[in-house]
Amino acid sequence: MPAREVVILRIGHRPERDQRVTTHVGLTGRALGAAGMYLAASDKGVVRSIADVVGRWGGDFFCEDNVKWRSCIKEWKASGGSVVHLTMYGLNLPDVVGEIRPRKKILVIVGAEKVPGEIYGLSDYNVAVTAQPHSEISSLALFLDHLFSGEELRNEFPGAQIRIVPSKAGKQTEGR
Ligand code: SAM
Repeated sequence: MPAREVVILRIGHRPERDQRVTTHVGLTGRALGAAGMYLAASDKGVVRSIADVVGRWGGDFFCEDNVKWRSCIKEWKASGGSVVHLTMYGLNLPDVVGEIRPRKKILVIVGAEKVPGEIYGLSDYNVAVTAQPHSEISSLALFLDHLFSGEELRNEFPGAQIRIVPSKAGKQTEGR
């Protein structure tokens, strides 16, 4: 399995409406193997919530706000990275994931409301997680799971203050 760097670019975030969903986009990405999230909006609340989870639950997932999406995409591509835009209008995930899997650096774009048309042309892959409307959280989760072939479910998060001890019944944790 090649080492891969996967980073999320969240666009269209409206601080007054999307804080919870965007935080969950970041937490889902973190839990399922992404290295970080660029947020194309100003929202320190999201940055703080994610940093708080990273501090307690480990790993080194980053969250950076105030990112300009055009320059982010441009710089990512200039550094040799590939860009995947999750959209129900794209090619269906099972038909393209095999081509995407060998890529070393992948920027995954997810929208909130309507995504600027330019994004479709700037992306190397427009990928649908079914051709049905649902959510940025579910599409990201399924994309990452298929990309990593389910291996991300065994990821470890070094430096955690709390760790769950998987139990058949009840709640068991280690740490404080
Ligand atoms: N109506 C919006 C549009 O036409 O772009 C979509 C809004 S949807 C709530 C927010 C985001 O979820 C989209 O920008 C896309 O990234 C993701 N999404 C929703 N359904 C998807 C699907 N079937 N496949 C891939 N991504 C999807």
